[in-house]
Amino acid sequence: MAAVAIATRTMKAAQIPGPGRPFELVEREVPEPGQGEVRIKVQACGICHSDVLTQGGHYPGIVYPRVPGHEVVGTIDALGDTVSGWRVGQRVGVGWHGGRDGTCISCRRGDFRNCLNLRIPGISYDGGYQEYVVVPDDALAAVPDSLHAAEAAPLLCAGLTTFNALRHSGALPGALVAVQGIGGLGHLAIQYARKFGYNVAAIGRGSENAELAGKLGANTYIDSTATSPAEVLLRMGGAQTILATAPNSKAMSSLMDGLAPNGKLIVLGAAFDAIEVTPIQLISGSRAIQGWLTGTPADAEDTLHFSELTGIRPMIETYPLDQAGEAYARMLSGDAQFRVVLTM
Ligand SMILES: [Zn+2]
Ligand SMILES: [Zn+2]
Repeated sequence: MAAVAIATRTMKAAQIPGPGRPFELVEREVPEPGQGEVRIKVQACGICHSDVLTQGGHYPGIVYPRVPGHEVVGTIDALGDTVSGWRVGQRVGVGWHGGRDGTCISCRRGDFRNCLNLRIPGISYDGGYQEYVVVPDDALAAVPDSLHAAEAAPLLCAGLTTFNALRHSGALPGALVAVQGIGGLGHLAIQYARKFGYNVAAIGRGSENAELAGKLGANTYIDSTATSPAEVLLRMGGAQTILATAPNSKAMSSLMDGLAPNGKLIVLGAAFDAIEVTPIQLISGSRAIQGWLTGTPADAEDTLHFSELTGIRPMIETYPLDQAGEAYARMLSGDAQFRVVLTM
């Protein structure tokens, strides 16, 4: 009977046993937080397309088995040594920014978002597809009580990325801002763009997306299968910002001519093939292309507060942790409306 008394506490986790392998549901010991770390009792974890990096083994240096997940929401369950400013029971979230080294040149310049040794949940260490996760305390964002865990989770990556890219785009209220793609990122980008006070043009495929785009806040819907989005944007005076959320380099290339003078194409959709643009397209009108990588935990808190203030929420489909494999397949199918979230 003594063995029962000292039995370690276990939990369920959905792990990838090796690169390219399917998910397996396993029992693991509940991890203990070390110095500077906290343990979170996970309530929800969003499934992001970037989790393909872990499942497919596309990110260098991943140690397997690995639990993916970088859209984590839960409550702090235990504090490691030297952690201050956070308390047990507090609602928190963790996104792509899973800890910084604090010593690289970006960190020394205060540009933590671009830490050269950024740690990423689900890649550098086990992420949120499990009942408990241990993370460094500098990865934590406080989550407002009013936000439902499953709705807050996608805001920590998809929401944060679009919110942060838009608010740093330089476009002023009233400017024409186009959102290319009405999916996991795009459906949030349209909402943020509208609440920021832009004249929002949503670019999607097919007439059937027009109604949804309007509901999300788009002032104009452009069907890319029926017309040239760049020509339409140009007729409207040109877009100050085009936020390219769908990972389609060809579609992004075709948008360049829709930019206003000094306009900027901001790239969020992560594709591996090249965007094609001529120097003339960039030089005439001083147009620019910029990529954007998510944000810090402080940026995540800004995203959550703005979403709370303005009623912006992701559209989600939830699955229990036991069905992580099915949920992941659903995300991959591209048919989900729009973010898939695991609940514990
Ligand atoms: Zn993500
Ligand atoms: Zn750094």
